[in-house]
Amino acid sequence: MLLFFIMIKNLKNLPVPTKVIFGSGSFGKLNEIVSEFEPKNVLIVTGKTTMNRLGSYLKLDKNFIVFNEVEPNPSLKTVEKGLDLCKKKKCDVVIGIGGGSPLDVGKIIAVLTNNKGSLRDYFYKRVCFSKKGLPFIAVPTTAGTGSEVTSASVLTDKKKKDAISHEYMFPCVAIVDPELTMSMPRDLTAITGFDALAHGIEAYWSKKSNPKSDIYALKTIKLVYENFLKACDNPNNLRYREKMSLASLYAGVAIANAGTNVMHSVSYPLTTFYNIPHGLACALTTIEFMKFNSKSAKRKLLDIAKSTGARSIEDGIKNIENLFKKTGLVRPLRYYGVKKNDIEKIAKAGVTPRIKNNPAEVNEKDIEEILRKIW
Ligand code: NDP
Ligand code: MN
Repeated sequence: MLLFFIMIKNLKNLPVPTKVIFGSGSFGKLNEIVSEFEPKNVLIVTGKTTMNRLGSYLKLDKNFIVFNEVEPNPSLKTVEKGLDLCKKKKCDVVIGIGGGSPLDVGKIIAVLTNNKGSLRDYFYKRVCFSKKGLPFIAVPTTAGTGSEVTSASVLTDKKKKDAISHEYMFPCVAIVDPELTMSMPRDLTAITGFDALAHGIEAYWSKKSNPKSDIYALKTIKLVYENFLKACDNPNNLRYREKMSLASLYAGVAIANAGTNVMHSVSYPLTTFYNIPHGLACALTTIEFMKFNSKSAKRKLLDIAKSTGARSIEDGIKNIENLFKKTGLVRPLRYYGVKKNDIEKIAKAGVTPRIKNNPAEVNEKDIEEILRKIW
């Protein structure tokens, strides 16, 4: 136990307002951290299997209320249900435990509890929050979204997947314990790792990129490149899990400062139309978008390539392509149920305000062309 505590670090000076506690065993500090807020009632937002797995480790005091109904790609309905519970039980602290989905739901419940107006207005009309939310503590159990240090909550209504984001939505505290990711099966490890890589790459070439985000974006790419396959193939090796949790955290810091763009924009229709998991949906277009951006963002692409040990852009792209191949998951779109006739529809839905943040101009036709290449 002592060994674990020595490994827990307070990561300071990260360019995000969230206090980050990182390291194996840090989950054991949850109750102590929660009690600092002197809460009356605490809402725990999580998913079904996560609750079954971790429930026995949580010292659930009487004032802890569990909402364990968050599904992957969470819906507005789920948020509304959790919000009702939060208000009814008069919770004054919210904890999100799980993958990006429970974290995103907990985050939005915390801010909505203190703000007037409906979730649908914030989702569809982009209304701004006027008050700070309840304190929100994020505990990731996957290594990919970085949601523990971002101000975004990604939600789905019918076939629309989109983010609500506001400075009041940054978690107060993130407890990042890589041990919690050990139970991820190989495919989930790979899929969430793809997400972290996409965050690193998109943040690095993003128009909004800046010297701060650049540092974390490049660190992400290097960490993922060096540890991703090892984590997939050695699920019980804590060292690789630690590296991937750190990569995910750094990637979250990078996108919190520079945003995402093309891969994320096109990933949303791939997820809502065909149920392709988020990280995989990003990976499917990564190689083609790297090629697409390699002319207008030459220097950035070269740095990305160098983070994989390559000396040229072409070799860097090949390195990432090989890494994808080894997972067996990055396959042609038709393998995931995408019909050729749907390509125009996906391209149209893939054009969102997000793509303005891409270094090169991209239009619907460009996206359509890329989708045809990978079909
Ligand atoms: P999810 O949170 O959607 O979880 C996917 C599945 O993994 C669930 O069935 C979950 O089980 C299971 N699971 C979670 N942790 C473990 C574990 N340790 N061991 C075994 N199974 C586990 O996955 P992601 O983390 O990939 O999150 C994706 C979501 O995050 C998307 O909606 C995406 O758009 C969003 N996102 C948000 C960002 C942000 O900044 N806010 C950034 C990037 C992505 P169960 O739920 O049953 O407990
Ligand atoms: Mn993502």
